[in-house]
Amino acid sequence: MKNILNCSFSSISENEALARMIAASFVAPYDPTLGELSDIKTVVSEAVTNAIIHGYNEEGFHEVYMKLLMENRVLTIEIEDRGKGINEVATAMQPLYTSRPDMERSGMGFTIMEHFMDQVEVKSSENQGTIVKMVK
Ligand code: ATP
Ligand code: MG
Repeated sequence: MKNILNCSFSSISENEALARMIAASFVAPYDPTLGELSDIKTVVSEAVTNAIIHGYNEEGFHEVYMKLLMENRVLTIEIEDRGKGINEVATAMQPLYTSRPDMERSGMGFTIMEHFMDQVEVKSSENQGTIVKMVK
């Protein structure tokens, strides 16, 4: 069993809810528990928010890419932006690290993604963008 969905949308905050719903609808046929559905929506939200506010500095109207793959009951989610990138991924992923304390961010997005998913991989290059790949 294999199913793939690829989409892209503008980097505006309204699309965070859209991305969550697309991911939830994509996994629905595979009988997720309510807890699993909620976890999937949460991690998509965190990664999409990061792309919009950090990757693209809230400039809007850039593109965020989401790829969903379900294969043999294993879900892979990739959220990509072509924004500013992360110069030190290991530091960025530490609990409570945020580059935007002024925005009252708590620095917990990556920690939440790692908690809810089995695997989180971040590939990023400065000024080229970031891909967050999560597997569950
Ligand atoms: P929170 O998610 O709790 O609101 P946060 O977004 O700052 O706060 P994380 O989601 O853990 O915390 O991200 C940590 C840091 O990694 C961010 O502050 C930012 O510097 C960097 N970062 C995360 N995603 C991206 C991205 N897509 N592009 C550029 N930088 C990013
Ligand atoms: Mg975040």
